[in-house]
Amino acid sequence: MRPVELRFGDLRIEGWSRAGDDTWFRVHPPGLALDVGRGALQLAGAPDIFLTHGHLDHALGLPYVLSQRSLHRLVHTRVFCPAEIAEALGAFIAAAEKLEQARYRYDLHPLAPGDRVPVGKGLTMEAFAVDHVVPTLGYHLWHGRRRLAPAFAGLPAEELISLRTRGVDTAETVEDLWLSYCGDTGPRIFEMEPRIFRSRVLMMECTFLGEEHRDKGERFKHLHLGDIERRAADFRNEAVVLHHLSRRFRVEDLRAEVERRLPELASRIHILVEGKEG
Ligand SMILES: [Zn+2]
Ligand SMILES: [Zn+2]
Repeated sequence: MRPVELRFGDLRIEGWSRAGDDTWFRVHPPGLALDVGRGALQLAGAPDIFLTHGHLDHALGLPYVLSQRSLHRLVHTRVFCPAEIAEALGAFIAAAEKLEQARYRYDLHPLAPGDRVPVGKGLTMEAFAVDHVVPTLGYHLWHGRRRLAPAFAGLPAEELISLRTRGVDTAETVEDLWLSYCGDTGPRIFEMEPRIFRSRVLMMECTFLGEEHRDKGERFKHLHLGDIERRAADFRNEAVVLHHLSRRFRVEDLRAEVERRLPELASRIHILVEGKEG
């Protein structure tokens, strides 16, 4: 079955998500993977894999994806992960290589919050800290573009050309935050990484909803819809993609709660559950 594709301007996101089950996304450009779930074939084309954490609903499929890529003789894979889990992940992959009597072509790159990785033309990933029960990173995707530096604004075109021929750099690089992916996180994320409120597309988990599950977010370090409701006025994003819904709930339940509790935000909220948009 082919998962749905969400399009936001130049960004395309496909993926699959259910809490405790399977969560992975592929983001174009540049075609990288955010988590690998239990191992989706759609990820075999991804040259870069960014893992948020080691919970198996996000990371189990890593050896499978590397195996598929090796089978198809695809180029080297770069795997990025929180530094704290790099050793265990390396041993996990090595065990799979032993079982298959094969060698996968990959490098493992441990990351800490603040680390930046170029991932394609003008695109950079940046790791940030989130609030989960095991070491976990979120990721920002930045898009850099060149524009005229303010010091040269208003100058006639001939003058700018003459400056440039004399070797003066009249441009500056500005970065737009295209996408933020929080991975699994509790509600402290809103204080820890307020930049997520300003990314063009925010991919945020929403595991719990309903009154009887109200305290579960804080307790299990996941988000409850009520946590999102409390910050509803702060979301400046063009689109918010909610995913990682617990199997207790139906996608229709989440959509109904979003319409009822987040009326201002509802039109910008996309719900991605099990490869379908709800
Ligand atoms: Zn999870
Ligand atoms: Zn988790």
